[in-house]
Amino acid sequence: MKLLGGKVALVTGASKGIGRAIAESFAKHGASVAFTYLSSVEKGEALEKELAQYGTKIKGYKSDASDYISAEELANITQAEFGKIDIVVNNAGITRDGLLMRMTEENWDEVQRVNMKSVFNLTKSATKIMMKQKYGSVINITSVVGLKGNAGQANYAASKAGIIGFTKSVALELGSRNIRCNAVAPGFIETEMTAVLDQKVVESWRAGIPLKRGGQPQEVADACVFLASDMSSYITGQVLQVDGGLLT
Ligand code: NAP
Repeated sequence: MKLLGGKVALVTGASKGIGRAIAESFAKHGASVAFTYLSSVEKGEALEKELAQYGTKIKGYKSDASDYISAEELANITQAEFGKIDIVVNNAGITRDGLLMRMTEENWDEVQRVNMKSVFNLTKSATKIMMKQKYGSVINITSVVGLKGNAGQANYAASKAGIIGFTKSVALELGSRNIRCNAVAPGFIETEMTAVLDQKVVESWRAGIPLKRGGQPQEVADACVFLASDMSSYITGQVLQVDGGLLT
């Protein structure tokens, strides 16, 4: 069943990991997809070619999600080339981990800019377009760490908690325009971001997850397909945990 037929989606940070799985799932479900990357240019260009097999319009853009003007240009170019924007997934994110004692101002600022300011940047520009359409679904990728906190990730946890407050506020402001805004909070998902972690730490996490395994990017993408589609037409302002029961 194609849940996103005729829809236009814009996904940030889709060169790899969770964003890549979201872009591919959206295309499989019939959406035309605009997506971004920043440093992984080859991967981004390869993805554009790969997704063409699903038969919808696909376009990758090199665009820095943390830059306000670039985000505005991205929303405008997407509207010009695709005709509308129905779905936005703010997925781009980074980690700069370290204990507070050792965290530099730069580590703090960079994570807030890329993880949280980016969500403001694109949501603001894209919802201007969605308001005229009187239709839209915004999905912000937060983290269970934004709900619970995590030693060694004060900067990341703060950025992800900020996304949750932003998501709920936008849901309240734009519900009357038929624009929904939800967050997805992945737990431990096996991507390049988590591949750098100490394997002993990872094993102890796995043991603590009720489903006894890390999640796959596809499992986060499936939740995004649901929130992007009209299957979730009465759901807004929510945080959907995709964490194998980690926080339960
Ligand atoms: P990843 O494999 O490291 O991929 C991150 C993506 O974000 C890449 O495509 C990267 O593009 C892009 N990106 C980074 N900075 C960017 C910028 N300034 N502008 C545009 N794109 C940018 O990470 P992931 O594990 O898939 O994580 C994706 C999202 O899920 C993040 O928001 C992350 O915080 C969240 N999350 C992940 C987990 C997990 O366990 N993996 C858990 C909870 C939440 P380039 O490589 O081209 O720069």
